[in-house]
Parts: sequence; structure tokens; C-alpha cells
Amino acid sequence: MRGALGGPRVLLRRLREVMSEPASAQERLDRIVVLIASNMVAEVCSVYVARADNTLELYATEGLNREAVHLTTMRMDEGLVGLIAREAQPLSLSDAHQHPSFSYRPETGEEIYNSFLGVPILRGGNAIGVLVVQNRAARVYTEEEVEALQTTAMVLAEMVAGGELEALARPGSGGTVIRRPLQLKAEPISDGIGLGHVVLHEPRVEIKNLVADDPELESRRLQEALEQLRASIDDLVDSGGLSHAGEHRDVLETFRMFANDRGWIRRLQEAVNTGLTAEAAVERVQSDVRARLLRQTDPYLRERLHDLDDLANRLLHQLTGTAFTLAAENLPENAILVARAMGPAALLEYQRLRLRGLILEEGGSTSHVAIVARALGIPAVGKAEGIVGLVEPGDAIIIDGHAGEVQIRPQPDVQTAYAERARLRARRQEQYRALRDKPPVTKDGVAIDLQLNAGLLVDLPNLDETGAAGVGLFRTEILFMVAPSLPRAQQQEALYRTIIDIAGRKPVTFRTLDIGGDKVLPYLKKIEEENPALGWRAVRVGLDRPALLRTQFRALLNAARERELRIMLPMVATVEEFEAARAMLLRERERQKRLSQAGPKQVHLGVMLEVPSLLFDLERIIDRVDFISIGTNDLMQFMFAVDRDNALVSTRFDPLHPAFLRALGRVAALANERGKRVSICGEMAGKPLEAMALLGLGFRSFSMSPSGIGPIKALVRAIDVTALQEFVATRLAEGVEAPRMRADLADFAGAAELSF
Ligand code: PEP
Ligand code: MG
Repeated sequence: MRGALGGPRVLLRRLREVMSEPASAQERLDRIVVLIASNMVAEVCSVYVARADNTLELYATEGLNREAVHLTTMRMDEGLVGLIAREAQPLSLSDAHQHPSFSYRPETGEEIYNSFLGVPILRGGNAIGVLVVQNRAARVYTEEEVEALQTTAMVLAEMVAGGELEALARPGSGGTVIRRPLQLKAEPISDGIGLGHVVLHEPRVEIKNLVADDPELESRRLQEALEQLRASIDDLVDSGGLSHAGEHRDVLETFRMFANDRGWIRRLQEAVNTGLTAEAAVERVQSDVRARLLRQTDPYLRERLHDLDDLANRLLHQLTGTAFTLAAENLPENAILVARAMGPAALLEYQRLRLRGLILEEGGSTSHVAIVARALGIPAVGKAEGIVGLVEPGDAIIIDGHAGEVQIRPQPDVQTAYAERARLRARRQEQYRALRDKPPVTKDGVAIDLQLNAGLLVDLPNLDETGAAGVGLFRTEILFMVAPSLPRAQQQEALYRTIIDIAGRKPVTFRTLDIGGDKVLPYLKKIEEENPALGWRAVRVGLDRPALLRTQFRALLNAARERELRIMLPMVATVEEFEAARAMLLRERERQKRLSQAGPKQVHLGVMLEVPSLLFDLERIIDRVDFISIGTNDLMQFMFAVDRDNALVSTRFDPLHPAFLRALGRVAALANERGKRVSICGEMAGKPLEAMALLGLGFRSFSMSPSGIGPIKALVRAIDVTALQEFVATRLAEGVEAPRMRADLADFAGAAELSF
């Protein structure tokens, strides 16, 4: 197309002039449609904007009846305009009336126009409006014309996203779609309610100039940036280095493939040819790619979208000369962090007190960053599909980490309701805090030991805040997971000593590395296994790679100078495995003595009971260990053969199932009979009804996440444990049906006037 006024470059320049003239938003839109129509030698040019109520409203027109502006609306499933918005693809027709989706609107007077070209107005791959030109004569629009109209639509996208058009919408329509309130279901990661404003973990590059002054210069800038991009990716691949997001080689190889992709590069060049700046061209092409790939159901293709997003982002940084900055610096108050994915160390860089929540597009509740979010007590959700593309920085947003809900741009009544819930929660927390210094003793005078689960240094202040008696489970692998490289013996020793020092007189039970399964150390080679939960993990790795376990024992022994040292072994399946690990620990202790190094006053070595085979060798194992800690998360997974990380089955069986309770009861009975310490450190321990069942089975020691201590202490102090024990024993002896047990315990709690 070469219209009367000189093609897309001239059009873009004129558009820029219109945008900078002082005028109201409506006047500006009116001038824009006149400009486009005359430039493209079209009789009609119209702008439709998508509204919050899922309709498209005519916002401006040249050529159609002007009375129809802000009156004509189309549903998303209606007409050619609706089709373009739905599919987010251009549509070009020489005889529009023949198209099955054509819908006639008498008020517009459009029946006399035969040819039709419409393009979506895109933001983040979603259509937020449609731009149309029409001609009376039946004609075929050229590819260049389609391209030019798409470029023009980009300018309109900026206007819509900038909020300028908000006030123009017909009253009662709820405004434009881009500002509409949205509710999203996500996976709960970390409990709590947070109200605040969106901060993108990886801020978008702001493009200040859409229209090029000198297209030749832009073309050169694009080529140079592409060159540098390729070179930097080659460097990364060759050095095997890890970039800021912890990408691995596969991702880099994919980058390299795209960075050399002719189709992608051609499209970028074409966008520059229409008169866009190089950065605007990148944004435009990426928007089209997103629009296409977002509508794919193939997970592989959708995954590629993320790679392409990353690549486009790198190119934008290259072009604008801005460094990759994460939002960690200059974090505003009440920030709710939104990220596609994030590593655990990155989260630790943010100022905790300003963070109100974390929303991840990809990570789930077992991701490493999830563990850190829980440790920091930040409400968090994961698997929030498409969240990054749905929010703008600064948008109001609410996260409910318990229900797994996200409210984007919530209405005032929704905000009030959540604020009220957050207040209630805070009041309950206040009540629990008041219990901090009260002893966890039951009504009938039985002392219960309540300890914490921890895995990072940031967990330790919880000891003081909750009044817990110690750390019953320190997951040492979490320290390893957030470290940039495998911590050497001395680094480990320093870490363990700091932990012991902070805990002061309170004991800490260190669990040796429980890596493997879902817990992958980023700097160790990942081994592909069909069934990682049943694979090479935990103590199995330690026994097969003795240097790893030996170093850890040595570091722990050196750290615990003149103090008591408690160590436990994860995932032990046989007595022999325990013996082998114990022999290794004893050798290290002997070595320490031989070298006259200061060591612990006393060493206790315990076993985690997580594999059912040990349940059938209880008599033998119990005499060899100093204590037993039951990991009910894994024990449940293996007893019922349910993958704890698979949402389809993980909640299929109730931990209060009589079969499970009987198995646990046997351990409690035998340990109590032999005078061996036994405790529970799985999630069950921190849940009131579950903890009641465990107390009823004879357990007196529990280790749980910090948020559990308050509610469980309140429960302990209100309960008569002798009566509870009788109740549980009777119900199990009577052969209670599985689903009844939970209800029966709730009744018992109700009768004791307990509420949780
Ligand atoms: C368990 O399995 O119950 C446990 C406490 O260990 P983790 O959750 O770390 O596997
Ligand atoms: Mg476990």
C-alpha cells in the first residue's frame, strides 16, 4: 500500500504529532481514525475497545454513522470484530458480507462497505480492542497494509493501557477490559492474606519512543542488538554459566535457536520498516507471538512462549541499554511480588517487611522458593496461570495463601471483605502470641513438647516468637538449596554453629541432607529417574557418596563444641542402613578425638521413620537409635502409595485413616514402653484435629511449622489427654469406619468446647 499520504512511516509520524497535541482523549481518537482512513485510502476507520463486561464498544469512527459511537457494542462471540478479538489475529476480506460471522448493525450504516480489514489491539498477547478499516469497493488488502494497520494498533494499545480511555466508556460497562477486576485460582503455598500493589519481579522494559525518527538507523540498531544478543548467548552456552534466573543449558540452547531463527528476525525487520523504533518492533512482534502461542494447548509450545518472552526481553535490554534489574531495590511498601518463576535466593534479597505476598506463575507448593516463602511467613500462591500478562505494575491486588486465590484490581466491597479477614487473622495470631510464655501442659497436667521445623537462618527468630522448645527438624538440605554452590566443610560448620548459637539453650535436631526426589541442588547434576520419590535420595545418596555424608557429620561435630548434638537420618528403610551411617558418624567422632579437636558434649543419633519397612522391624531399630522422629508426610505417601506432590491423589486418603493411626499407635506404644524418645515432625503435627489423634495415640512430642505452634498450644492447654487417649483407643478398637474418625474427633473437640 502506498496511500495518498505516503505509507506507514508518514502515518506513524502524523500519529505521533496527534498524540502530542493538547486534546481530550475522544478528540485525539477522532483525529486518529481520520488520519488512518486517509492514509490508507479507506472510506471507514473504526476503533472498538474491549470492555470489562466482555463486549466491544465502538469508541471512534470515520465513515460510519458517528451517532453510533459509544452506542454500538458487540459481544465477543458476535460479528467480525468479535472474531478478531477472540482469535487475536488480523482478518482481511474483500467481501465481508459473505463471511458467516458478519453481523449487520443498521445504526452504523456499514452495509455499503464491501472490503474489510481488522486487526487486534494487543497487550501482552491479549486483545484489548480491534481496529478496522473498510472500503466500498471489493478489494484485497496487501500484506503491507495489514502490517501497517497492526503497527498503528500498537499506538492505540498504549492509549488504552495508559488508562486515557477509561472515562469514555458507556456508563455501567465497568470500563475497559484491561482495568477489569479478575479473580484467579492458584495453588496455596504459604498461608496468610496480603493486600497491596503489584510489583513485577522482573520489571518490563519501558518503551518511550514508538515511532522512529530515522528508520535506517533503527534497522542498524536492531541488527547490532541481534548480533550482541547472539554473541552473549554463545558465551553463556560455551562457558556453561548460569544467568540471573538460573537457566540451564537446554534453555540457553533454545535461546540460541530462536536468536538465529530467520522468521523471527524477518518479522522484526519488517516491523522496523513500517516506521517503528527497534524496541517497539520487538514489542510488536512479541505481542503477536504471544497472541498466537497463548491460544495453543500444546504444553511444549506454551513453554516455548516463555523462552521467546525471555529472549525478547534480553533484546529489549540490549536496545535500551538498561541492565537486568530485579525489583528488589527500591521496593515500595505493601508490595505483592508477581513473578513467572523465581529462585529461592532471589526472594531473600527483598526487604521482608515491605513484602505482603508472592504470586508465581509457574512454581508450586514444593518449589524451593515456596519453602523460603513459608520460612519468611509471606503469603504465597503458585501456578497462577498467565498472571504476569494480566497485571500492570501498581495494580491493586489481594492474595489469599490459604484458599489459593488472587483478586486482581478488586472492587471496593471485595477489598473490604478481605481486609476484614486479614484483621480477624491478625487478632487470632495476637491471641496465640499471648500464649507464648505459657507452658504447653494439658488440663490433666501432662507436659507436651512443642518444637519447630526449620531450614534457614531466617526461621530461627520463630523460636523466640512462638516460644517453641527447640528445633525438632532442621532440614539441612534447604541451606544447600539456596546456596550458590555446594557448601564446603568449613562453610557448613560455620552455618551449623550459627544455628546452634542462635538457638542458645534450646536443642536443634539436624537432619542430614534429604536431597533427591523433588529436592534438587542446582549445582549438582540432576539424575533423571522414573520415580524420583522412590529413587536415589536422602540417606541412600549419603551412603553411596560417603564424602558428602562424612563432610556433613564432620561439620556438625565441629560446630557443636561442648554442646549436645542431635542428628537424624532421613528415609532409612532398613536397620542396616542406619548401622552403616552410624558407623560413619562414630568414625568421625573418633577422628575428632584423635586430633584432640573440641567436640560435642553428647551425640544423639536418631532415625526418621518414613518408610513402612521399618514399621515391621521396629523391635530391632528401636534398641539401636537414640530417638525416632516420624515423618508422616513421606510415611503417608508410601503407606497409601499416593504421590504427595500430585494434586490428583495427594488428598485422596485422610491421615486420620484408622489404618494409618494404628501403625502410628504401635510406634508410640513400643517407644513409650522402652522409654525411647519419639516425636512427629510431618505436617500432621501442626494441624489441630490430627494433633488430637496423635495425642490420643500416646505421642507427647511434636515438631511443626511455626504457624502451628499457637493453635496446637491452645489445644494442648484445653484438653484432658487421659480422656482423649481413652476415646481414641475405644474408637479404634471398635473398628471405626475411615470417614468417621475425623468427625468423631471434631465431636470430641466440640464437647470439650474447643474451637479451631
Ligand atoms: C516428612 O516426610 O514427614 C518430613 C518431615 O520430611 P519432609 O517433609 O522434609 O520430606
Ligand atoms: Mg520426608
